[in-house]
Amino acid sequence: MAPEQSPQVVIRNVAVFDGSGSPREAARAVVVEGRQIRWVGPEAELPEWAVGRVIDGRGGTLLPGLVNCHVHLCSDGAPDMFAQVAHDTIVWSALRGYLNIQATLEAGVTTVRDCGEADNVAIDLSHAVDEGLIDGPRIRAAGRVITMTGGHGHFIGREADGPYDVRRATRAEIKEGAHFIKAMATGGVLTPGVTPTQTALQPDELDAVATEAHNAGRRTACHAIGNAGIKNAIRAGIDSIEHGFYLDDEALQLAVDRGTYLVPTLIAVNQIVDNGRAGGIPDWVVVKAESESGHHRESFAAAVRSGMKIAAGTDAGTPFNSHADMPLELSLMVDYGLRPVEALIAATRNAAENLDMLDKIGTVEVGKLADLIVVEGDPTTSIKDITNVRVVLKDGVVYRDDYGARA
Ligand SMILES: [Zn+2]
Repeated sequence: MAPEQSPQVVIRNVAVFDGSGSPREAARAVVVEGRQIRWVGPEAELPEWAVGRVIDGRGGTLLPGLVNCHVHLCSDGAPDMFAQVAHDTIVWSALRGYLNIQATLEAGVTTVRDCGEADNVAIDLSHAVDEGLIDGPRIRAAGRVITMTGGHGHFIGREADGPYDVRRATRAEIKEGAHFIKAMATGGVLTPGVTPTQTALQPDELDAVATEAHNAGRRTACHAIGNAGIKNAIRAGIDSIEHGFYLDDEALQLAVDRGTYLVPTLIAVNQIVDNGRAGGIPDWVVVKAESESGHHRESFAAAVRSGMKIAAGTDAGTPFNSHADMPLELSLMVDYGLRPVEALIAATRNAAENLDMLDKIGTVEVGKLADLIVVEGDPTTSIKDITNVRVVLKDGVVYRDDYGARA
C-alpha cells in the first residue's frame, strides 16, 4: 500500500548498525517518512512505494543519531570555564549555546542532555529547537544544578542546604522547565575551593532530590567523584552517576543492583591534563585534574568489568572539550575497556535509556524518530571511523548530506 503524500527520504547502499546490539548488516536501506523510520531491510527488497529523496550512503555505516548525555551548551571549551561563566550575560550564553548546538549536530549528535548552566538558557534553547526557530539537536536540560552553599558548580547552580531547602530548589527547577534534575554529591575540578573527593549534598539532601524529581516524573543525575558521595547518590536512588572517579566493589554492586548508569566523561579530565597550564587553564584546575586522572581511568575500567550500565557523555564545554568531540570520548572508552560496539551502544541505545527516551530514539527501528547518521567506514571495528560523519538526519529532516552536496 502506498502511503499518503508525506515526504520520504530513502537512504540506500549502507550497512546498518541499529544500536540494539545486533551485528552490523551490509547492503541495507532505510526509508524515512515524515519524522519517523518507516522501513528498514535489505536493499534488494526495497518496497516499490519507497520513493522520494534518495541518499546514496556509498557503502558507509548508518547508525542511530548519537546521544551525548553530558554537555554544557552555554560553555565552549574556554581554558577557564569559571571565568567565562562569570563574564557572560544571558545573551552571551545564548549565543554560545547557539553556536555549540550547530557544532553538535554537524558531528552527528542528534540529542544532548545539558547538565547545567547559569540562567536556564539551555531550557530555552530546547524550546527554540522544538519550535523550529533554530536548527539543533534535541535538548534535555537540567537548568541550574542543585548544589550546597559554596559547593561545586555554584556558578551554574542553585545553592540549597538541608533537605527542605533542597526540596524547594528541586521543585523550583522543575517549575522553570527542567527536563531532569542535576545535583552535586561531591566537590569537583572546575570550582575553586572544593576538592573533588569531598562529599557535598548529604544523604538526606540527595533523598530529597530523588524523591521530588521522581514524583514529578523527572530523572536525576549526580555529579559524583569521591567514593562516599558516589554511594550516597546511588543509595538515594539517583539515576546516573556523572564522572565516578572512585567506584569500588561496593559502589559497583549497588549500581548494578539498582540499574544506575555511569556517564564517565573520560575526555574532560584528559583535555585538562593534555592542555594544562600552557593552554591557559588555571593552575588549581590542572593540579586537581592531574591528581585524579589515573583514578578516573581505573574506575572506568572497573565499571566495565562489573557490568554497570554505561552511557556516553563528554562534559563538552569544559576546558578544550568542544561540542564536536564525541568521537574522542568513544575512542577513550575503547582505549580503557569497551569494545567498539559497546562504545557505540553507550552513545545510542544506552544513552537514550538514560534519558528515558528509548521509546523514541536510540536505535534504528520502524516507528522511532528518524535520527540517523551515515559515517564513512565501519566504526563497529574501528571506532575512529565515527569521526567520518557524512549524513545527519534529525526528526526526519536532512541536516547534513555531504554526498548530495558533491553529486
Ligand atoms: Zn559537567
